[in-house]
Amino acid sequence: DLAPMRRALISVSDKTGLVDLGKALAARGVELLSTGGTSKALRDAGLEVKDVSEITNFPEMMDGRVKTLHPMVHGGLLALRDNGTHIQAMQEHGIPEIDLLVVNLYPFEAALARGAEYDEMIENIDIGGPAMIRASAKNHGFTTTIVDVEDYDALLAELEANDGKTTYGFRQKMAQNAYARTAAYDAAVSNWMAGAAGVETPRRRAFAGEIKQTLRYGENPHQQAAFYVDGGNRPGVSNFEQHQGKELSYNNINDTDAAFELVSEFLPKDGPACAIIKHANPCGVSRGETLKEAYQRAFDCDRTSAFGGIIALNQILDAETALAITEIFTEVVIAPGADDAAKEIFAKKKNLRLLTTPGLANAASAGLAFKQVSGGLLVQDRDNGMMTFEDLKVVTKVAPTQQELEDLLFAWKVAKHVKSNAIVYAKNGATVGIGAGQMSRVDSTRIAARKSQDMADVLGLKEPTVMGSVVASDAFFPFPDGLLTAAEAGATAVIQPGGSMRDDEVIKAADEAGLAMVFTGQRHFRH
Ligand code: 5GP
Repeated sequence: DLAPMRRALISVSDKTGLVDLGKALAARGVELLSTGGTSKALRDAGLEVKDVSEITNFPEMMDGRVKTLHPMVHGGLLALRDNGTHIQAMQEHGIPEIDLLVVNLYPFEAALARGAEYDEMIENIDIGGPAMIRASAKNHGFTTTIVDVEDYDALLAELEANDGKTTYGFRQKMAQNAYARTAAYDAAVSNWMAGAAGVETPRRRAFAGEIKQTLRYGENPHQQAAFYVDGGNRPGVSNFEQHQGKELSYNNINDTDAAFELVSEFLPKDGPACAIIKHANPCGVSRGETLKEAYQRAFDCDRTSAFGGIIALNQILDAETALAITEIFTEVVIAPGADDAAKEIFAKKKNLRLLTTPGLANAASAGLAFKQVSGGLLVQDRDNGMMTFEDLKVVTKVAPTQQELEDLLFAWKVAKHVKSNAIVYAKNGATVGIGAGQMSRVDSTRIAARKSQDMADVLGLKEPTVMGSVVASDAFFPFPDGLLTAAEAGATAVIQPGGSMRDDEVIKAADEAGLAMVFTGQRHFRH
């Protein structure tokens, strides 16, 4: 059993809550040791503080690069209190025992976020702080390590509940958090340096995340889960504001991410757009004159699947769209804002979750995408491929009409967000059939057409909406069969990457069927 806490070393860049903590510790008779700025803040608040430089007999030097890096400090953090030779060493050199370390680091991440210059970034790399944190956390059998302002209250509660001591369990938990903090800190430094030095595939890459939410369960109820965020400021599922509804589940977060990334392909200035997602695949995507129309046309692609879906909008949710959405059960709506009238309408649907984001995500932005495989991670650039009219190459005798061209590009953007093999039929700025995740491209083509037939039945239309549509394929047609299936279903124009060994055969088949076809030269596998 430890003696009650007697000495604390506090060295913090973020001075939030510092004075209250200092007062509470002092009231317990804990002696305070501190570095320059922290000492000053505590002293200004009327507290008695000893400077670390008094103990080390060295001034803080080199612009603060060297403050606490000294055996008088590290000895006090690392000494085993039940080890004779350690105790002897402390006595011999007059090293004071440090029972509590409170450190938060130079704000490197904040400097990164504001895009600081190289030299400023370098000066924001904390050296002494992580060294003390790691030392203290190693010695958690005896010392307590606090690295987050959010843990000050827990620390004080712990001391209160245990006669001025901390329990082993608490120290161990704080030590775990401390190592995660220094790891995340160095991850930020090394990832920044990889970028600054133009290293594309660093030999080592560090990853770090901070918990945003513990989840009730994972993909299935027998799997534990939590949501960790990397602190980036990309609008979307990591930094939404939730206005109502139950907590998001694991699957909700995954689907909401897919929905929002898809709708972010459509810039607000180009008009309203809506994407409805089920199991991470879109079951309807549409543009519209109004947001309500975009929603309704997306819904009409596959009303059956849209039930219990996730809806993403590229513009501020208004009342009439909100009203249309509430006609069926929806899990989540995410949009770059919602007006008061829309919020009022949603308030009546207690289970519907409304999320607003600070804006749309930038579909063209660079970044990394990770996929876990057994024993490791696959890392690649995120798929930020963008296609414009100028990039398209017409390969058939007939060229697409202007309307077809617009629909081809629209279908292409959607196909990028559909699991491979992806086939997307579209007409007048709306999807009319989506085939996802099949092992055969022909099957995806058939399924998408059949869904269109099903919807025609539901809507009481004479012919399936796929008649006179265009079709997008996320990767090349290896044989003419898939293309011919699409033509038979009623497609009149095709967009695909091209690049198959049998492109000639496929182009010939397209010409014979009277199709217009464009090649993108870029594919969008998504697995
Ligand atoms: P203060 O505001 O008290 O002058 O400085 C507090 C900051 O200094 C904390 O973020 C702490 O991690 C950092 N720090 C403490 N010792 C050292 C050291 O020896 N070298 C460097 N570079 N930073 C230190």
